[in-house]
Amino acid sequence: MNNEKKVVTLTYGCQMSERDAETLTEISRQEGYVTSNDLENADLIIINTCCVRESAENKILGKIGDLKKLKDKNPNLKIAVSGCMVQQPGALERLQKRAPHIDIWTGTHNLHEFSGLLHRSAAGSKVAEIWQEPQETIESTPLAEKGKLQANVNIMYGCNNFCSYCIVPHVRGRERSRKPEEIIEEIKSLAANGCREVTLLGQNVNSYGKDFDPPFDFADLLREVDQIPELLRIRFITSHPKDLSDKLIQTIASGKKLCEHFHLPLQSGSNSILSSMNRQYTREYYLSIVEKIRDLVPQATLTTDIIVGFPGETEEDFEQTLEMINLVHYSQAFTFMYSKRSGTPAATMNDQISLDVKKRRLQKLMSVQNEESHQLRQRMIGKFYEVLVEGPSKTNPNRLTGRTRGNILVVFNGPQEVIGSLVSLRIIEAGSWTLVGELETTE
Ligand code: SAH
Ligand code: SF4
Repeated sequence: MNNEKKVVTLTYGCQMSERDAETLTEISRQEGYVTSNDLENADLIIINTCCVRESAENKILGKIGDLKKLKDKNPNLKIAVSGCMVQQPGALERLQKRAPHIDIWTGTHNLHEFSGLLHRSAAGSKVAEIWQEPQETIESTPLAEKGKLQANVNIMYGCNNFCSYCIVPHVRGRERSRKPEEIIEEIKSLAANGCREVTLLGQNVNSYGKDFDPPFDFADLLREVDQIPELLRIRFITSHPKDLSDKLIQTIASGKKLCEHFHLPLQSGSNSILSSMNRQYTREYYLSIVEKIRDLVPQATLTTDIIVGFPGETEEDFEQTLEMINLVHYSQAFTFMYSKRSGTPAATMNDQISLDVKKRRLQKLMSVQNEESHQLRQRMIGKFYEVLVEGPSKTNPNRLTGRTRGNILVVFNGPQEVIGSLVSLRIIEAGSWTLVGELETTE
């Protein structure tokens, strides 16, 4: 129907940000909009922002600027900007000045108010509503979309860690865990609607439930989720190394659907940098956890986040980071150049590193990691892996694609019927980026 109102949502940043974008889209749907990808013909555009690095902010500012053209063409178009960038202290005024064509500004703590904001905007006023603090743990808006194979589920909000480079605790507030029964209920309802894989989300899932009295352990939550019959797989991110418990490692070792993948952000391999980052672990401690994981869950994959060019990082510090890549054997590393975030302690530290040095270190880091990933994929050749089939491959729609329990992408030739189910694949080829498998049996 042509008179349907269309909403297009663009989201930036982490999975938690993506989940927030889904909530805003869902609320728009409840308000009568249908989802669309067609920016030119949209009636409502939502830009859900990220501010973790300056590069993300610049990209988003560019996009917000571009949308002015659409607003000039269609004055009835509503544009809403939400999320972390707007939530930064003092950011709203600056943004409003820069982008007067935006109709609705909103932050990270009041997603559930979005329908009210849409109504106020429809009545003709510009709207800006940011809560400085979260007022309570507000329950996620359940997603009505059926047949979605994978879903992200927030188990907690916020972060207490204050790593010295990071803006997240400043825009997402302190840790608040959702009640286990609410989480289980949300997952059961997703599973009843066709979802087969959930990823439990938190900035540090290992401190889930520590804010309850009595505390509730993350590993116990995983055990409960593992009992939900229709689910095939359970993942979780992110694990702060300082809080990863033996119980969690044992739980992953003994769980049925708990995927053997740990995303364990290292950030740096140098103790002096880890200390000025306020990460609260040493490289030796980190390696001791890796050893425990390798002992108890030998098939586990490890992935990580690493920052190069943190203030004061010397060549020796950087060499120690490179060394960790070769010691841990990550299957994948998300690598970043340090980016100054105003209001964080690292932004005013001495010895900021030049862009040239950061770029050189990033290149080197990426090439060392690429070699590790390549070797890891080579070692997979000839072996069998359980893969949850997600659908046609993006690069070659004639092939299907899915992920191993360790979260490694595999493409293969197979019938459409296996989409959404677990198959066993033998790895037959490992290119620079793609792993090719061959279908063996269907479960
Ligand atoms: N809570 C998660 C990660 C949140 S942000 C954790 O602690 O693991 C995702 C990643 O962005 C971080 O792990 C870090 O590597 C990177 N990051 C955060 N702030 C950054 C900054 N100021 N500059 C560069 N990278 C940053
Ligand atoms: Fe940021 Fe550190 Fe919290 Fe992760 S743990 S969100 S890096 S402050």
